[in-house]
Amino acid sequence: MVLRNKNIAKLQAGYLFPEINRRKNKLLEENPDAKIISLGIGNTTKPLTPYITKALKEAAESLGTAEGYSGYGDEQGMTALREKIAEQLYKGLVDANEVFVSDGGKCDCGRLQLMFGSKVTIAVQDPAYPVYVDGSVIIGVTGDYNESIKRFDNIVYMKCTAENNFFPDIKSLERTDLIYFCSPNNPTGVVATRDQLKELVDFAKANKSIIIFDAAYSEFISDPNLPRSIFEIEGVREVALEVSSFSKSIGFTGVRLGWTVVPKELRFDNGEQVINDWNRITCTVFNGASNIVQKGCLAVLDKEGLKEMQETVDFYMENARLIKKGLDEMGVKSYWTGNSPYIWAYFPGEKSWDVFSRLLNEAHVVVTPGSGFGSAGEEYVRFSAFGHRNLIIEAVERLKEKLK
Ligand SMILES: *Cc1c(COP(=O)(O)O)cnc(C)c1O
Repeated sequence: MVLRNKNIAKLQAGYLFPEINRRKNKLLEENPDAKIISLGIGNTTKPLTPYITKALKEAAESLGTAEGYSGYGDEQGMTALREKIAEQLYKGLVDANEVFVSDGGKCDCGRLQLMFGSKVTIAVQDPAYPVYVDGSVIIGVTGDYNESIKRFDNIVYMKCTAENNFFPDIKSLERTDLIYFCSPNNPTGVVATRDQLKELVDFAKANKSIIIFDAAYSEFISDPNLPRSIFEIEGVREVALEVSSFSKSIGFTGVRLGWTVVPKELRFDNGEQVINDWNRITCTVFNGASNIVQKGCLAVLDKEGLKEMQETVDFYMENARLIKKGLDEMGVKSYWTGNSPYIWAYFPGEKSWDVFSRLLNEAHVVVTPGSGFGSAGEEYVRFSAFGHRNLIIEAVERLKEKLK
């Protein structure tokens, strides 16, 4: 018999989406005609745009020709794409050799965890995207379970609620080796300001920590004063790496493409460069992103492609505006500054699963309970703007009618 990896047994039951489905199905049993609308899932719905679709099609077709065929490429990604990402998205703040193209930001998080190994301590925002903690636990980052504080010794949860403007209290923060930080945040949608990121960077520097910055939603930032990348912050190159993705901004959730930027100045405590180990991991357990998709991405970064990316983002942002306006009209307190596709709605005194059930049963609208992202998400629910326009409008109308 094979021993089960005991770290997997330490994972908290992944019950969020199964439980959402269980409650949905229960409603449908009692009320088979209910037309349920989901504002819950962080999955994209808008079709790919024409210029990008054409590039993907041409790339696929060219593989069927003798001149156009290619097999394995560089594990780090096509040079032309690495250069274009560095130029177009980072305006030269990073070097093309520091950009590693991949099959997605979540997958890169998993491989980063493999690189850092089990002997690190980590900090995550609470609430947070689940892979930071779960991927770390699988690799063995836990320490002992501490019953009195109900957490593993080696994982620090940085509480982010309305009381601290959804930014951790850095002054009272425990030192950890790694700090996962996502901005614009999933699930809260909150974007850290330049000053806040500077504080985080200074903290990491003083503690010789490494920040793993998740910029998957950076394209949703329209306020020019807000940083889209951690590399916009002074002094950051010795303390941070950045993970990003085309999943949400151009609808590549199913097509798959992301990247990680590791600056050459980032080092381990023995002086070795992190970029060398990242290169080693990339070449060992990854064989490069799809060549078709990488060619599609070259088109995304053309003038026409960037314009289409903006249109896709604008479409979801208009959805978000409609949801926010509806919540305001209902008198529901919610947080959204126009720079993310998620709206974080606050129901003081009510458990987030109770809010979930109330919206489901009364308006047949599905949201995501905030507690599913961490205990600091209690009393909140997440509204996602990744939906079809007509359904968003209908959901908002129903909520207004039933909840007024
Ligand atoms: C969607 C999302 C990603 C992107 O993951 P991919 O693997 O690139 O699809 C990364 N981080 C966060 C916080 C996300 O919500």
